[in-house]
Amino acid sequence: MKNNIETKFENNHNVHHDNSYFMEVNNGMTHEQWNAIICNDAFYDKKFYYGVKTTGIFCRPSCKSRPPKRQNVKIFNHPQQALDENFRPCKRCKPTDERLPSEEWVEQVASYIDSNYNQHLSLQTLAELFHGSPFHLQRTFKKVKGITPAEYIQDTRISKSMVFLLNEDRPIKEIAIAVGISNMSYYVTLFKQKTGFTPTEYRQLKNRIN
Ligand SMILES: [Zn+2]
Repeated sequence: MKNNIETKFENNHNVHHDNSYFMEVNNGMTHEQWNAIICNDAFYDKKFYYGVKTTGIFCRPSCKSRPPKRQNVKIFNHPQQALDENFRPCKRCKPTDERLPSEEWVEQVASYIDSNYNQHLSLQTLAELFHGSPFHLQRTFKKVKGITPAEYIQDTRISKSMVFLLNEDRPIKEIAIAVGISNMSYYVTLFKQKTGFTPTEYRQLKNRIN
């Protein structure tokens, strides 16, 4: 049942009825797409995505979120187009295919390492924690950070231990354990490789400065 305004619109514009369903209504959106949005029609998932200008969030057609106002909708053919225009993926329908944008995902993993560097960490456990494959994590992390997760873990542990060495009088072996490295000779080798000093030499630097 058409309301008066729509009927008048079609009469004024001489729209052919058999085509009107597929014609654009606004912003590149067709009637077919608009219907998919308001009916949460999963058939259209991955065929298009829609952003809502007022919230800056974009969704799959099937999203159960509140139907947007028609004039605020912007249609995208691919999630990357929406991201490029600074729309954020909806937390409910996760239009980026369950995966966060790479940068955000890698930052989550990195910040987990930053606060859990003293725990046992492996590519496998990190991948499981952050719902990706080890292969994908390794490749994506390296692409975003320029180093692998393992290198990032090493760098984090060594730089934390540098702070401990300068500010605490604990034995070096204890400091190694405190940053998650139980093998003392591995710690000394890694420290020297990263900083050019042994932990003992590094500690002595402080005394020389003071
Ligand atoms: Zn959504």
